[in-house]
Amino acid sequence: MTQGTSTGQSDASADLTTPVQFLKGVGPQRGELLRRLGLRTARDVLFSFPRDYREMGQLVPVEALREGQPACVQGVIDEVELQPLGDGRSLLGALVRQGSQFVRAVWFNQPFLRSRLRLGTTVVLCGTPSMRGFRWELRQPRIEHLGPGETLVREGPLPVYRLTEGLRQHQMRRIVSLVVASHAGAVDEVFPATYLAEHRLLPIADALRAIHAPRSEAELALARRRFIYQELLVLQLALALRRSHLLRQCQAPVLEATARIDARIRRLFPFQLTGEQQQAIADICGDMGGGHPMNRLLQGDVGSGKTVVAEYAMLLTVAHGYQAVMMAPTEVLARQHARTLERDLHASRVRIGLLTGALTAAERRRTLDQIASGELNLIVGTHAVVQDDVRFDRLGLVVIDEQHKFGVRQRAMLRQSGLDPHYLVMTATPIPRTVSMTLFGDLDCSTLRQGPPGRQAVHTYLAAPDQRARWWQFVRKKLLEGRQAYVIAPLIDENENLTLASVRQLEQSLRAGELAGFELGLVHGGLSAEEKAEAMERFHRGLTRVLIATSVIEVGIDVPNATLMTIEDGQRFGLSQLHQLRGRISRGKFPGYLCVFAEMPTAESRQRLEAFASTSDGFELAEIDFQLRGPGDLLGTRQHGLPPLRIADLHRDRELLEEARHDAQGLIAADPDLAAAELGRLKQMVLRRYGAALDLGDVG
Ligand code: ADP
Ligand code: MG
Repeated sequence: MTQGTSTGQSDASADLTTPVQFLKGVGPQRGELLRRLGLRTARDVLFSFPRDYREMGQLVPVEALREGQPACVQGVIDEVELQPLGDGRSLLGALVRQGSQFVRAVWFNQPFLRSRLRLGTTVVLCGTPSMRGFRWELRQPRIEHLGPGETLVREGPLPVYRLTEGLRQHQMRRIVSLVVASHAGAVDEVFPATYLAEHRLLPIADALRAIHAPRSEAELALARRRFIYQELLVLQLALALRRSHLLRQCQAPVLEATARIDARIRRLFPFQLTGEQQQAIADICGDMGGGHPMNRLLQGDVGSGKTVVAEYAMLLTVAHGYQAVMMAPTEVLARQHARTLERDLHASRVRIGLLTGALTAAERRRTLDQIASGELNLIVGTHAVVQDDVRFDRLGLVVIDEQHKFGVRQRAMLRQSGLDPHYLVMTATPIPRTVSMTLFGDLDCSTLRQGPPGRQAVHTYLAAPDQRARWWQFVRKKLLEGRQAYVIAPLIDENENLTLASVRQLEQSLRAGELAGFELGLVHGGLSAEEKAEAMERFHRGLTRVLIATSVIEVGIDVPNATLMTIEDGQRFGLSQLHQLRGRISRGKFPGYLCVFAEMPTAESRQRLEAFASTSDGFELAEIDFQLRGPGDLLGTRQHGLPPLRIADLHRDRELLEEARHDAQGLIAADPDLAAAELGRLKQMVLRRYGAALDLGDVG
């Protein structure tokens, strides 16, 4: 791309740690500006990739311009004139000289450009030429400013860097191009030469040159491919290393599903397991019988039958004299799970305990004693389970419902004796494959797509405000037939009081109006754990017919008789949240009816809600959601404790992600510790970036 007055020779011995102020063309002042951009050393500058590229079109000499054919012309600004046209309109003209030829550029109503057009400076103008009199004219051309003595020596996309006040684009380009020239050759290649060739990857020095100064779109694509692949491979290697490490290094109790145990467990289920459930159970038995900790993700839509699979794993654990823990994200859910387990297992001798933050000190003490003595076989709880004072007698299995907040640290706390427990992570949030490969890449995965037979469809309506009266009339009719209903209001903002006011208001207006005469219950974040549990309990028993709630009921609540749901301000909910909510009313023998009232201020919210109304396939919705929201808002590598990706985009780069994952698994299968000398640099990079986040400390 741009070339300075002097170019250093790329030198393998150039020092990449050179502070920026000592780099050619920088100095103390610009050094400060670069540091403000987070760039401290030559290496930082090399790896500060352009945030964008400008397609420059073909750079041509003036005599080669053709009427109506877009082109770029380079020249020096010779004359500038700003002409007011009245009514606040203006015409800005510049005469640009190239040797003895001139081109005129005109801009309408952009007087602010005037100050940037300095006489004697070199610019590149891109636009569509037309002949005016005897001179070529470009209307509203794009303009690029070049530094003194700088010339565009090539074609191809022009890099655009992040800047800071006081640093101009052309200056930044020049600084980077000098550093690329002098230092790119000094960057260590992490891949062996044969690996580069086999995977069609540009060598690092070429890739650095090409990403900062691509000669063509094709070359830029190759350079980007190398860096994206590298970033994804490093992540996938970290995940594969972790997985292989857990598999080989850690011991877990051998919990075999013998024919007798299997028959005893199955007798407890009142229904035939689906093929997918059988498969998931077979996966789990394979894992738990092997002597190494299971690390399995069980994913499936709400109501797809995951809990039964988890119950199987827990009973298998208990059958071998070990304890199993089931962790839920909320108090309400923990109670719900405990209730389900008690119902399903009342005929067995399994003893179930509940450990949540809502216990009194005395209750907690007693429960902890029963856990420590082994008196309790199954413990259902919230995060209260992973606290210092909890000691298990023999912990064999940890089931985690809704993964999001369970990380490496909590895991370490449950590793109490010499043996690690088995892990089963359940998620009812269908995860796009690209995301699960990244966030859960260290887990094996079983998926329930179909759900048990006879599940009821939910009719979903996206309603206009003038259909309210008809909808509530329908709700009343169904309530009179004996059904129950949810009314969901969004969490309006972080301000608990505001939300509270709005659900209370909603309740009052329904009580006085549309739902007069029906017993209403109210659940929201302002209630204590007991109050919430109490309100849920009343709804569960049918004492209240309608439950008005903020999204606290989002996951897991199971009231088969509740088949109606009204969602207010639907635009405030995310797609996966809406889908979770819908799952609440597809549980019984009656069909569900859901009506969303929403304002749709943006095209995105309309698309989201229409997608929601048009399909109830959670995996399909997850993909749509991912596309609509883009990677920025992704389930959060950050939330998961992983550093964010810098250049890769999981959606755009999904093919490369598959490739990197495949390659990483191949490398680890062949060399489980990545011990080969030629992979040393790659391994270092993996440990530097993910060592802490993924607890790879003893892989080193
Ligand atoms: P999830 O945990 O995935 O949300 P559940 O395990 O709670 O789903 O299952 C939803 C409902 O379907 C429960 O009432 C459960 O008893 C029932 N169920 C699960 N598996 C089957 C099956 N194979 N046949 C019939 N009903 C089933
Ligand atoms: Mg469940």
